[in-house]
Amino acid sequence: MTASSSAQLVGHFARGEQQRPSSARTLPLASPVDGAALGELAVADAAQVDAIVQGAHEAFQTWGRTPVKDRVQPLYRFKALVEKNLRPLAEMVSRENGKTVDEGAAGIQRGLEVVEYACSVPALIAGDILEVANGVDCYTRRFPLGVVAGITPFNFPAMVPMWMFPMAIACGNAFVLKPSEQAPQTPLLIAELLAEAGLPAGVFNVVQGDRETVEAVLDHPLIRACSFVGSTPVAKIVFQRGSASGKRMLTLGGAKNHVVILPDADPELVAKNLTASATGCAGQRCMAASVALGVGNCDAIVDAIAAEMRKVRAGFDMGAIINPRSRDRITGYIDRAESEGATLIVDGRNPALPEEKRGGNYIGSTLIDRLAPDSNCVQDEIFGPVLSVLRVGSLDEALAIENRSPYGNAAAIYTSSGAAARYFEQHASAGMIGVNIGVPVPRDPFAFGGWNDSKFGIGDVTGKDAIGFWTQTKKTTVKWTTNAARSWMT
Ligand code: NAD
Repeated sequence: MTASSSAQLVGHFARGEQQRPSSARTLPLASPVDGAALGELAVADAAQVDAIVQGAHEAFQTWGRTPVKDRVQPLYRFKALVEKNLRPLAEMVSRENGKTVDEGAAGIQRGLEVVEYACSVPALIAGDILEVANGVDCYTRRFPLGVVAGITPFNFPAMVPMWMFPMAIACGNAFVLKPSEQAPQTPLLIAELLAEAGLPAGVFNVVQGDRETVEAVLDHPLIRACSFVGSTPVAKIVFQRGSASGKRMLTLGGAKNHVVILPDADPELVAKNLTASATGCAGQRCMAASVALGVGNCDAIVDAIAAEMRKVRAGFDMGAIINPRSRDRITGYIDRAESEGATLIVDGRNPALPEEKRGGNYIGSTLIDRLAPDSNCVQDEIFGPVLSVLRVGSLDEALAIENRSPYGNAAAIYTSSGAAARYFEQHASAGMIGVNIGVPVPRDPFAFGGWNDSKFGIGDVTGKDAIGFWTQTKKTTVKWTTNAARSWMT
């Protein structure tokens, strides 16, 4: 497994190998950890996208007809290779994304759960058969679509692609990944491991680039389906453009996750969980706790959260923000909350950093209290290690605030009352619900996916829905006997 070193041009992976990079346009790459240059990224234009899609289409001619039990064999070997190379992969995630190496490894391990699930596709993909009239059988079989694509964000450079390609490939498609231009090297390492695992050339491809490249992918007539994960404004644009060119689309967007704390919640559990949820990956997770809704007098719980948050130090236990622009955007939210009269209980601006990380992009954990419900900190996706507290009088008031959010990825409640938890689960407007858990990711075989402006399209990105998304069914009606009953079908 080889990674590009600094000063290199980072390119595409197609026809089973890294392509010699050549590009009219490039983007500079820098590590969020310390600001070190990581080379230049080649941006694919429409002609380069087309060349890669044509290679995938050629590969599909054989791969699509390969029996499913054979198609999953490279995925078993890929899983073993990823486990063997976990450390270098996690180090690459950390280097280009800024999260800690342990967080990088955790994301890869969650992604491997989808690989495991994809290995069971032979057991999941079988069709149905039924005698529908005397002597007449009807059966269904699932077929791959052809060339399909995935477009992914910076925050999980290994895991989010793994939500998509293992199932797509196991279902018989050839896959083109357009990773984030901010974390493009981890997917190249994944491509190399898939090749080493024996996946035929052209079945998995990486095309690098930004908006121009995405548009070429969305407009390409040979690409039949596209899964996207990223921010809500882009998810909407991508859904519409891909749908307009006749593609099957599923696009996951951003989030603003609310956590309700009832007076009967365990304060220590709340403080530890909310801190981990809000500050893990420096808050750059679509499942991060963002607004804490304290019901009743929650002074003691807010003090306990503050004590935990002060222990998490940027550049030591907590990783970096992806780029200086995002760091400034996040500090802008904190500045505004302060100027609006909110109480900054823990202020993460200008954190003290270790010497070697002073060139990186860091914000310390931040806890803001006494915000107005309509303030930007409460309404917008901040995507940084910032937790906003709102004090409310009742569970219904908390739910009303949660329900008003245009997003709907996750919502959680901390309580020792089963009845209150069930009421919350019934009335929260979100696709993923946590009870006494701060990051309620539904692990495989359960599917990942939000509601409202956190997702556009039908079904979820992982779990059984993925089989429906990456395949099409053929319905065949068969009669082998002339004695079959006469009916409208005969
Ligand atoms: P982003 O929307 O900026 O980028 C995502 C992808 O879209 C990238 O590959 C990028 O190159 C491409 N892109 C960016 N602008 C585009 C445009 N105008 N037209 C076409 N393509 C464009 O997202 P990001 O900053 O990389 O990732 C963070 C966002 O992703 C957050 O909003 C986060 O909540 C979200 N996210 C959501 C989930 C989920 O499951 N719902 C998971 C992870 C991340």
